Amino acid sequence: MELLKQRIMQDGIAMGDSVLKVDSFLNHQIDVALFNEMGKEFKRRFADANITKILTVEASGIAVACIAAQYFGNVPVVFAKKQEASNLSADVYASNVFSFTKNRNYTVRVDKKYLSATDRVLIIDDFLANGNAALGLIDLVQQSGGTVTGIGIVIEKGFQTGRKLLEEKGYRVESLAIVQEIHDGTVILAD
Ligand code: 5GP
Repeated sequence: MELLKQRIMQDGIAMGDSVLKVDSFLNHQIDVALFNEMGKEFKRRFADANITKILTVEASGIAVACIAAQYFGNVPVVFAKKQEASNLSADVYASNVFSFTKNRNYTVRVDKKYLSATDRVLIIDDFLANGNAALGLIDLVQQSGGTVTGIGIVIEKGFQTGRKLLEEKGYRVESLAIVQEIHDGTVILAD
């Protein structure tokens, strides 16, 4: 997606050789006009998938998913919770995820009320690195008996193993921009 690629080149900041910081439009401040274009693009790519629900994980995925949902006929957005909370039902699907950015494990949880066997789920997330967050979300959908129709990612880091892992398991991955390499403070995008 050309607009997103331009924005990454303009505002993305390389952190070492593996992390891209895009706080100015995606992870802290949100560019709503850009998100609208991203939502349209997800719809274009998954137009044939008959999606009934979008699943993401807090925090940064929520805004992306909500804006995209409007282009899928306002399907509900469910976000997996990362924190255990007294007001979250005990009747949850749960999965353990290794966090790439925090270098530790955490649990994602969704109340069983919000995923079901009839759901056709599009998983959306801000970044794809090694695929652990996506695998955790896939696991939640599988526990519910629902179908994962695809995985929509804003920025994929093509030099990490996420896409390979997910495609080997048979999942369709669509990324709006792919970072080929981060090297000496320079971000190189795939065509
Ligand atoms: P994975 O689970 O695929 O290894 O990593 C994806 C998750 O880690 C995303 O949900 C995202 O929050 C975070 N993440 C991974 N790499 C980056 C990165 O380079 N920049 C940012 N901002 N987040 C990342």
